[in-house]
Amino acid sequence: MAGYKHLYGPVPSRRLGRSLGIDMAPMKTCCLDCIYCQLGRTTVHTAERKEYVKVDEMLAELEQWLESGKEADWLTFSASGEPTLNSELADAMVRAREMSDIPVALLTNGALLWRKGVRDGAMQADLIMPSLDAGTEETLQRINRPVPEITLDRYIEGLHETVVAFHGEVWLEVMLVAGVNDSEEELAALDDAIKHIRPDQVQINTVVRPALSGEAERVDNATLVHARVILGPKATVISSAWEGAAVPEDAEHDEAEVLALVSYRPCTLHDVVHGIGMHPNEALKYLQHLVSEQTLRMEVRDGETFYVRAQ
Ligand code: SF4
Repeated sequence: MAGYKHLYGPVPSRRLGRSLGIDMAPMKTCCLDCIYCQLGRTTVHTAERKEYVKVDEMLAELEQWLESGKEADWLTFSASGEPTLNSELADAMVRAREMSDIPVALLTNGALLWRKGVRDGAMQADLIMPSLDAGTEETLQRINRPVPEITLDRYIEGLHETVVAFHGEVWLEVMLVAGVNDSEEELAALDDAIKHIRPDQVQINTVVRPALSGEAERVDNATLVHARVILGPKATVISSAWEGAAVPEDAEHDEAEVLALVSYRPCTLHDVVHGIGMHPNEALKYLQHLVSEQTLRMEVRDGETFYVRAQ
């Protein structure tokens, strides 16, 4: 988003509607290195907590954004890396909530919630959205490639303790990758883990955006439906919630905003239109220009055209 270093969007989130992303860690600073990551390989693979993004600086941007009169359904603490690595995350969420009526969501990989300090900080959100993609240690290592101190037992216990202690809802996302965690055995093991964790919702997803590594392929629709049956009554397959929504009439957007959104993650034209609130013709004009100057490239995946930041 033009002029902001730590805010992006509002991004059309499949789970939250219009989500204003708040970046709490630098690009690819993460305790995992998932094979499906849209941002490529993890460059800073760490479990060390620090104030990676200065909270005062981020809040000054948020104040400016709120004063501009724009709207979002959620303030989503997230990152181009892992937000719980920011040691001041709790303070940031508390202070952000005091600035508006917009609820605060924490989008995290959840892999550090076994640490009490991380878990206590996460409790400051209104909604916690962690992930779990593996029911066996072997698959955790294969799909998420964690730092050494993260084991599956710790991961699952941290999620369980979070659900027990948290006042709000916990929505657990499971990302299915073809040939990696979609077998009967793996789904059964995931089901056992989820029964222990007891989240409020289980949201089944698959790879729909190009993973920069090219290692991860989506599962087919039949597998998604099968996984929903195995993972129980709280499980849903999450789909494009903004599909078919009216195009908002808004103005004052420019190419820099389009570039900022696409730089954060690969987007379709539809994502840009609804994420920024831009007329499709205008969005297409900027996208085509950015492609022509090789700032973006186009990538077709499952019949959909994504715009991706050129490396
Ligand atoms: S946890 Fe998120 S940011 Fe980290 S490697 Fe996995 S997908 Fe990428």
